[in-house]
Amino acid sequence: MQVGSVNSQVVTIALSSICGLLLGLPAVFDAHRPLLTAVVVAMAAVAITRVSLYKTLERFVGSENHPFERLQAVGAITYALLSGMLAALAIAYQIPAAARTSAVVYAVGFSASAAARHAGRPLVAVSQMVLALLPLIIAAALQSDIDDLMLAPAGVLMLCGMYAITHDIYNVLRDSLTVADTSARLAEKMQKLARIDAVTGLLNRTGLNHELVERSMTLQPGRELALIWIDLDHFKEVNDTLGHQWGDRLLCEVGIRLRKSAPPGACVARFGGDEFIIACEANTRAEVTDIAQRLLAEITRPMRRDNQLLEVSGSMGIAVLPEDGEDIDTVMQAADLALYHAKLNGRKQLSFFTPAMTRALKHRKDMEAELRRALRRDELTVHYQPIFDLASGRIRAFEALVRWYHPQRGEITPDEFIPVAEETGAIITLGNWITAQAARVAATWPEDIILAVNLSPLQIRAPGAALGILAALREARLPAHRLELEITERVLMEHGPNTETFMAELHEAGVHFALDDFGTGFSSLGYLANYPFGKIKVDRSFVSGADPKGKRAAIVRAISSMGRALGLEVVAEGLETEQQIAAVREAGCTLGQGWYFSRAVSAEEATRLIAAERGMLTPAQLTA
Ligand code: C2E
Ligand code: MG
Ligand code: MG
Repeated sequence: MQVGSVNSQVVTIALSSICGLLLGLPAVFDAHRPLLTAVVVAMAAVAITRVSLYKTLERFVGSENHPFERLQAVGAITYALLSGMLAALAIAYQIPAAARTSAVVYAVGFSASAAARHAGRPLVAVSQMVLALLPLIIAAALQSDIDDLMLAPAGVLMLCGMYAITHDIYNVLRDSLTVADTSARLAEKMQKLARIDAVTGLLNRTGLNHELVERSMTLQPGRELALIWIDLDHFKEVNDTLGHQWGDRLLCEVGIRLRKSAPPGACVARFGGDEFIIACEANTRAEVTDIAQRLLAEITRPMRRDNQLLEVSGSMGIAVLPEDGEDIDTVMQAADLALYHAKLNGRKQLSFFTPAMTRALKHRKDMEAELRRALRRDELTVHYQPIFDLASGRIRAFEALVRWYHPQRGEITPDEFIPVAEETGAIITLGNWITAQAARVAATWPEDIILAVNLSPLQIRAPGAALGILAALREARLPAHRLELEITERVLMEHGPNTETFMAELHEAGVHFALDDFGTGFSSLGYLANYPFGKIKVDRSFVSGADPKGKRAAIVRAISSMGRALGLEVVAEGLETEQQIAAVREAGCTLGQGWYFSRAVSAEEATRLIAAERGMLTPAQLTA
């Protein structure tokens, strides 16, 4: 292994040469021997040539196998030979002692310095040492004077010692360079690994960022770089129900499919979790749409798990550089926003970024800030809509429905702000507040009237959710069996491991559950079998069709008879007319709720409704 010399400093050459001249000149002046003079002049000439060569070809210093390096090596060897000859001639001519000593000292010193300086190139070091010392050793060996004669064995021993030193230094240098080389290679490998996702073998977030920056910089004018951001729908469910191992296998399979169906040269990355990003160049939006649709179709193709088929779907957000943003960060944000819209619109679809999305996002952000403020300023109230027994016509329950009266914008409907509260997490604070508030009101009602409260998915997933509800009941002194929680299928579809324990714990404490908006989701009967529901609320979209012989009425009938068979009560939501009431009663619904009976009313009004029905005096009437 060639390690290299420390001969790259022109100053070293210059200093060593000046030293040589200073120690050689006494020999010239004291001995008056032409050969000696010629050697010293040659030394000076070689030194000057080397230094000037160095100055003119400085840029090639260190470049291996370059003629400059070879010339320098020839120069160094010649110089070594000349300094050896200077010492040898000084001994041979028996010039005055002082001058002789100077010449010998220089040769010895030169070869010693070569041992260290060229330790990285042992061949150069040895040749310099030998060339500087061998003439001296030979000349000394030919002398009869014992003082000179002793120089010969001393020179040989010195050569051996210096060779050993060179050898040792060389080994140390080589070992440390090997270590450095291995570390550099290891670092390079680590850097590559740091850009790869361990599960799918695709690029990870770091790798993607790196790639995107490069691609955005080399994008040809007129071409577009499309970012297709994919999020697998309900992946969490797969992970929770089938286990992480299966989750990983699914991600791998998706990765393989994406790689296969992505256009050549596309960059396919796993952005994290169940999100993938494909970046590819295209000429037109139609081309991007084609690519995205192909990818979506690939993901949606069922996967085989042992002998079962697993259905996977994905939502896609697409944004294009430079159309949707001038830099990668902006385009990434745009694609993310487009993905968010795809999910909001019901998933399983692709959505291109539009500037309106940014406006919608701003609207949501404003709404979130206002909602938090509204909570602090008491702008929110809970209203109560009665649920009637369709046979007896008596109030059986009240559903708590939140209301927001904005000082400037007037009433904001829950359909508008509950989704925002869900997305931003504000629903947890809001939900706790609603439950506590409603429980306090319900505690003042007669024992047989139930309080129904709507729950959002996030409220169930929050740690300690069940305990929170039980604490609210305790504080309000409302027995658990008087609370009914309304849960939509969406809650169960997005359920985490907490949902079952949440429902089991509360069910055990006596809390009832109703399946809300039945008929609008998958209407999975599995939910009715697996969860402790006591009630089904048929969505108002089935009730509003007045035709008692129509399909919707048939569905209501089917749900009612299924409810009866399962021992569940069936509530018809959204009853607005007498005909609807007659129809749902005939269909077999046991309970009814709707504007025909009453809209959601304030707590005081709810108390008055109860009092009116039961011929009781309200607290207000009592104090009047
Ligand atoms: P939901 O749980 O299905 O509530 C019933 C909705 O139907 C209420 O709308 C109610 O006012 C409305 N409704 C009742 N009778 C009729 C009728 O005869 N005709 C028509 N057209 N509508 C009727 P609201 O209060 O606007 O609530 C809408 C949704 O917002 C609720 O649907 C529920 O999902 C959510 N929500 C309302 N309050 C809360 C709450 O306190 N917490 C949570 N998590 N969600 C709530
Ligand atoms: Mg409800
Ligand atoms: Mg409902």
